[in-house]
Amino acid sequence: MSSLSADTPPVAWRERALERLSADTFDLLVVGGGITGAGIARDAALRGFSVALVERDDFASGTSSRSSRLIHGGVRYLEHGFFHLVFEASRERRILLRTAPQLVRPLRFTWPVYRGARIPRWKLRAGLGLYDSLAMFRNIGRHRGLSRQSVLAAEPALASDRLLGGAEYWDAATDDAALTLANVLDAREHGAVVLNHAEVTELVTDGGRTTGAIVRDNIGGASTFVRARVTVNATGPWTDGIRRMVNPTAEPAMLGTKGVHIAVPARRVGNGAAVTMLSAVDGRVMFCLPAGEQTIVGTTDTATAASPDEVRATRADVEYLLASVNASFPAAELGARDVTAAWAGIRPLVSTKNSGDPASASREHKISAGSTGVIAISGGKLTTYRLIAEQVVDRAARQIGRGSVRCSTAIRPLQAPPRPPVFGLLFEPIVEGQQWTLSDATRAVQNEMACTLADILVRRTKIAFASRDHGIPAAARVAAAVARHAGWDAAECERQVEAYRAEVARIFTIDP
Ligand SMILES: Cc1cc2nc3c(=O)[nH]c(=O)nc-3n(C[C@H](O)[C@H](O)[C@H](O)COP(=O)(O)OP(=O)(O)OC[C@H]3O[C@@H](n4cnc5c(N)ncnc54)[C@H](O)[C@@H]3O)c2cc1C
Repeated sequence: MSSLSADTPPVAWRERALERLSADTFDLLVVGGGITGAGIARDAALRGFSVALVERDDFASGTSSRSSRLIHGGVRYLEHGFFHLVFEASRERRILLRTAPQLVRPLRFTWPVYRGARIPRWKLRAGLGLYDSLAMFRNIGRHRGLSRQSVLAAEPALASDRLLGGAEYWDAATDDAALTLANVLDAREHGAVVLNHAEVTELVTDGGRTTGAIVRDNIGGASTFVRARVTVNATGPWTDGIRRMVNPTAEPAMLGTKGVHIAVPARRVGNGAAVTMLSAVDGRVMFCLPAGEQTIVGTTDTATAASPDEVRATRADVEYLLASVNASFPAAELGARDVTAAWAGIRPLVSTKNSGDPASASREHKISAGSTGVIAISGGKLTTYRLIAEQVVDRAARQIGRGSVRCSTAIRPLQAPPRPPVFGLLFEPIVEGQQWTLSDATRAVQNEMACTLADILVRRTKIAFASRDHGIPAAARVAAAVARHAGWDAAECERQVEAYRAEVARIFTIDP
């Protein structure tokens, strides 16, 4: 069990984590606290390795809080012939539904088919039959064909003109940031030293081998040398930056494609569950996904040279998504002013010589060891994080001569962070009409390593994604509520509110 227990005051847990980072020599130093790094840290800690996990910003602050939040076989990938990936992802979906039922839940999809559609009914049925078979017929339920009437019974708000029928199939949904955090907390529970707002600024190499990294505490400002037998680069879209710390002329291993989502009011769209649609603009497969009071529409998939720090939706992205959803749900008549939030993420895909078309670029992952022994991951999906982690830790274990220790994450339950009941003032919602309360904010600081208002409002809750004002008007009240636990005085509360405004602008501004 970790000595950094959940009740340790936040300032103290950071200090103690920093002390251990500088004092210990770790089997594994994992750089990057997205789903990939979090999964690796948990797997390695469960195998009894000594593990350090450092994250530059907050856990899941990169791509892992900007996904479509699906744990899916990847119905879209069938079109591009990625059968192996669908097989692998379907197995992982099964494992996660079994081991993490609090975090991963079944989601029913309706796929309507219209006259003249790029994917006709026979092809859809054949594709979904293949989807079921690649899941070894052990998905939540098998797909079934739907008549025109049945499609409209399931999703009455769908366009009915030229509707021929369709199909129903199953995938699963999660909260990407919560899934990441659950892995981080379990890694900590099993002895890993985990620290957010802690950035690797330099890899240290001795005799041609990487022996650790210089890690800067982005809150306190001090830097320390973290020693490790194996260093793992799990920085997703930032992968090439870390690789170039060792080899400044390294060829890119990662191809970034940008994916945008918008949240719009669910009552305007009128979808009952999830809907798969072919965009009326260009025929791409897209989703309308239920998210409480909102429907999330996405995603785009375009080549980008944008820095992962500054990737945002553009007006053109938003117009494209609105045109697509309006064509499928004609009564919605959504305009730019109806958009609750728009955000973008970068898919860290494996770079290949012919990865020209983003949509057909492989979603498979690649694990490689650089010349100084750093293990790097490119590609992957939220869905397959557990498998990636297993393969990375297998490789790291061989590197340190302990290759016989087996992975247990395929059978071991993964719990969602506990939510103890609360009463009184703390039960007050942070934003009227939304589920999150001030007690969620204090718990985030006390038990879940939230260190900033953005950690609370963007990732421990989803307030920033679900409110048009992204929770900015509530920021000062949240800061006051958590101040005692976070060790913030009045000046720091003000600074936090300003920093939160800037963070909201960085993530949610819609660029021209
Ligand atoms: C629009 C979109 C939709 C998607 N939808 C789905 C989906 O529905 N289902 C699915 O399975 N997959 C989906 N994916 C893919 C999935 O989200 C990603 O594959 C996954 O989140 C990548 O996780 P990661 O940990 O590799 O990268 P990230 O989550 O980006 O994590 C990398 C981390 O490294 C940190 N870091 C960077 N530099 C440093 C440093 N110097 N020191 C310390 N830390 C550092 C960053 O701050 C970051 O938090 C989607 C992707 C996108 C873009």
